[in-house]
Amino acid sequence: MIIGASHAGSQLAVNLRKQGWTGEIILLGAEAQLPYHRPPLSKTVMAGSKTLDNILLRPEAMYANNEIALRLATDVASIVPDQKHVVLANGETLNYDKLALCTGARPIKLPLGDGLAGVCYLRSYADVEVIRKQLQGKQRAVVIGAGYIGLEAAAVMAQLGLKVTVLERAERVLQRVTGEQVSTYFTDLHRSHGVDIVCNAEVIGINGQDVVDSVNCADGANYPADIVIVGIGVIPETTLAQEAGLRIENGVYVDEYCRTSDSHIFAAGDCASYPDARYQRRVRLESVQNANDQARIAAINICGGADRYQVTPWFWSDQFDIKLQSVGLSDGHDEAVLEGSLDPADAQGFVIQYLREGKLIAADCVRRPKDFMALKAAI
Ligand code: NAP
Repeated sequence: MIIGASHAGSQLAVNLRKQGWTGEIILLGAEAQLPYHRPPLSKTVMAGSKTLDNILLRPEAMYANNEIALRLATDVASIVPDQKHVVLANGETLNYDKLALCTGARPIKLPLGDGLAGVCYLRSYADVEVIRKQLQGKQRAVVIGAGYIGLEAAAVMAQLGLKVTVLERAERVLQRVTGEQVSTYFTDLHRSHGVDIVCNAEVIGINGQDVVDSVNCADGANYPADIVIVGIGVIPETTLAQEAGLRIENGVYVDEYCRTSDSHIFAAGDCASYPDARYQRRVRLESVQNANDQARIAAINICGGADRYQVTPWFWSDQFDIKLQSVGLSDGHDEAVLEGSLDPADAQGFVIQYLREGKLIAADCVRRPKDFMALKAAI
């Protein structure tokens, strides 16, 4: 039984069959849509150049062909580990021999602008459908949070012709995920396309009557807005695990075999924190690579194997015509070595290698796909 039918859950189901699991496989998903690729949501789907049909992870027939019972729009109410069953929100009870939690993460909500039309979050296909409707005829957008979601959404809206302001609480954009030079590069890139980037901004109000009309900050600044997109991070979806008594540590705690504190229950993807041998600490990654690779390892171990999760994390982001490719985790670096140009107009792009005590731990690349592949292998 797999709870969660996104990248990790869907991959886990397919890999169980590849590993020779002959029993039933039930894949439970809360969303109504067939499992789909999430990265395009804040890019091509929001821009309107792709729809659900273009972003499905796998064709519908694949699930039936592999005897994977896919149950969509199905909420799980609780897990009862002692009796090895889950209870659905409709009261139905389903037994399992092995359970996998692929419950992902949910957006952090701002306690502002509740109930105002035009205040949007972006995590699911349904969210983007709402945003696309809200965007029609709109001219001024405010984005709160300059992480990947905020900056990708800002780029799309600028390209759709809106006047976009991005308000970031930290002193630089993308602070959680990259070094200073890359933050400067993306700030310059956005400004060159007319996006207003404001850092050290503390949002204290999202205002309007029924419909949003402005956002105001602690320093007294007021930003008129017809639409507001909030992208201020996610929290791992651990409620079911916690209520079932599983160990929680910045997400569902798993060992190097993707096993939770209950030996019959595994976890993979955004919801799971694991011990990382390279970085010598527990890590919880929010990425497609992690969802896929962790699910693959969990499937092997559910089928009786003993493979450790030891991979190199990698990420990408598309903003305007620029693709950022990142490998490894750069936090904790003591040296950043730049090769190339930090001018967004310069076609040569750049590579930044992050070192700790002389050892390569991570790299960011723009317009350097071959260097990216080489650095990924090196790390
Ligand atoms: P994120 O990467 O955590 O970035 C959120 C940003 O919002 C942070 O810089 C944060 O600053 C800032 N923030 C927090 N509270 C704020 C406030 N009250 N006012 C203004 N700024 C505030 O999260 P995200 O961009 O929302 O993305 C959500 C998830 O989707 C992440 O897991 C992300 O990796 C994933 N995603 C990935 C991609 C990609 O890989 N290309 C694309 C889209 C989404 P502080 O650090 O100060 O809190």
